[in-house]
Amino acid sequence: MTLPAGTPTEMFIDGTWSGGSAGSFAVLDPATGEEICSVPRAGLDDLDRALAAAATAQPDWAAAPPRDRAEVLRRTFELMIERREDIAYLMALEMGKSLTDARGEVTYAAEFFRWFSEEAVRVGGELRTAPSGANKILTFRRPVGVAMLLTPWNFPAAMATRKIGPALAAGCTVVLKPAHETPLTALVLAQILTDAGAPAGVVNVLTTDHAGELVGPALADSRVRKLSFTGSTEVGRLLLKQAADRIVNSSMELGGNDPFIVLDDADLDAAVEGAMLAKMRNGGQACTAANRFLVQESVASDFGKRLADRMASLRMGPGTDEQTQLGPMVSQKAVDGIADKVDRTVAAGARAVIGGQRPDGKGFFYPATVLSDVPRDSAVATEEVFGPVAPIIAVRDEDDALALANASELGLTGYVFSGSLARGLRVCEQLEVGMIGLNRGLVSDPAAPFGGVKQSGLGREGGHEGIEEYLETTYVATAW
Ligand code: NAD
Repeated sequence: MTLPAGTPTEMFIDGTWSGGSAGSFAVLDPATGEEICSVPRAGLDDLDRALAAAATAQPDWAAAPPRDRAEVLRRTFELMIERREDIAYLMALEMGKSLTDARGEVTYAAEFFRWFSEEAVRVGGELRTAPSGANKILTFRRPVGVAMLLTPWNFPAAMATRKIGPALAAGCTVVLKPAHETPLTALVLAQILTDAGAPAGVVNVLTTDHAGELVGPALADSRVRKLSFTGSTEVGRLLLKQAADRIVNSSMELGGNDPFIVLDDADLDAAVEGAMLAKMRNGGQACTAANRFLVQESVASDFGKRLADRMASLRMGPGTDEQTQLGPMVSQKAVDGIADKVDRTVAAGARAVIGGQRPDGKGFFYPATVLSDVPRDSAVATEEVFGPVAPIIAVRDEDDALALANASELGLTGYVFSGSLARGLRVCEQLEVGMIGLNRGLVSDPAAPFGGVKQSGLGREGGHEGIEEYLETTYVATAW
C-alpha cells in the first residue's frame, strides 16, 4: 500500500519539518511486512533542538489567555473530524487496525481536544481561612513545564491526544515521541495542531526506533519537568527509575490483565456483545482488552460457544480493506509473542475451540482464538496477551471470580456482567482495577478518568483529573 499524498515523513521541531541526525528507519505495513516509507531517526542534537524549542515556547504559551489555548484545541478537534477519513486510513495502513476501528479511534482521539478545550478555561485555585484564623491560604495552579510524552503503537492517535490535549490546556509545551511502529499518525497530528494555530515550539515530535537512547538523556535534562508514558509495565518501571534521579513528575498508563466476569444471572446475549467489544476492538491489542474470561460454571460452556461463533465469523484481512473486521497484529514480534502464549497454554491442557494456529502467507496475522479448559496458572491467564485470544476459565461463584481476578499485580480494567445491579456493584466494589464496565464492554471515554491501580499505572488521563497531571499547586500564606 502506498502512503497518501501529503503525509509528512519528517520530524517536527520548533514549527519546522526536519530530518534526523541519526539516520532513518523504515515504517512497515503489517498486512504485508513491506516498507511503506522511512522516517528520520532523531539524534541527541535533535533532542536538544526540540527541548530548546519547547522550553523557549513555554513561558508565552503558559501566559496565553486560557481562552486562546482553548481555541487552538477546539480548532484541532474540528480539523481532526474534518480529516477523519485520511487519519483513519493512515492508522489502518501503519498499524493494521480495521478502518471501522480506525474511524472510531479518530473520533475518540479528537474528543480529547474538545474536552480539554473546555477544561482549559476552568482551572481554579482556592482561598481559605487558616483554621487558626491568623491568615489566609491562597492557592493557584501553574503548568508543570516542558512535558516529554511517550506513546505506544496500539492507538497511535488517541494515546497522543490524551496527553497533548491536557498538557496544552494546562499551559505545558510538549515533545512527543511516538512508538517506532506508528510515527506517521503522530506527524499528522503535529501538522493539524499547527494548522489549528499552535505556535512554533509548543508541539514537537521526535521519531526514533532507538527510544532508550533518546529518552534516557531527555529525562536527565533539566528542561524536562514532566514525563507522561503509556506502554508496557516493564518499560514504565525502567522509566520511573530514570525519572527518579531528577524527581521528574511522572504519569504512567501501563499494561493490564483485565478480567471479564460473567455471573450466572447475566444476560448472555449482552455479555457476548460486550465480550466482542472488550476483546476484539483493535484485534485485542488494547490495554483495556479483556484478557481472561471468568465465567460462572453453569453458563461457561454456553457463553464460550456463543463467543466462539461470533469470533469465528470475523473477516481477517488488511486493515485498509473496507471488509476487514480483524486486521493484522502490529509486528512479527507481536505474533510470535501471542503464538508462544497460546502454545504454552495448549501444552498445559487448554483446548483451542477456534483458531490457535498462525496462517501461512505474508503479513503479521493471528486468527481469532477461543481457548476452553484453561488452567488458572497458564500463560494466557497470567500474562497480557495483546491479541485476539479469549481464554475461558470456569469459576464457582462471585468470590471465586474475585479471588482469581484480584490475584494479579496488574489492575487496569475489569468487566462485570450480572442481571442484578446490586450484585454487579458488589463485585465492582471489590475488583482491584481502575476502571470497570458493568454490563458494558467499553470503558474508554474522554470525559472519564482513565488509569489503573497496582502495577497498571500512576495518575489518570481524561476526565477532570487529566489536566491535573500537568499542573502544580503553589500556596501563599497571607493576611490582610
Ligand atoms: P512499550 O512499553 O514497548 O512502548 C511504549 C513506548 O515506550 C514506545 O514509544 C516505545 O518506543 C517506548 N520505549 C520502549 N522502550 C523504551 C525505553 N527503554 N526507554 C524509553 N522508551 C521506551 O509498549 P508497546 O508495545 O508500544 O504498547 C503495548 C503496551 O502498552 C501494553 O502493555 C499495553 O497494555 C500498554 N498500554 C497501556 C495503556 C494504558 O492506558 N494503560 C494504553 C495503551 C497501551
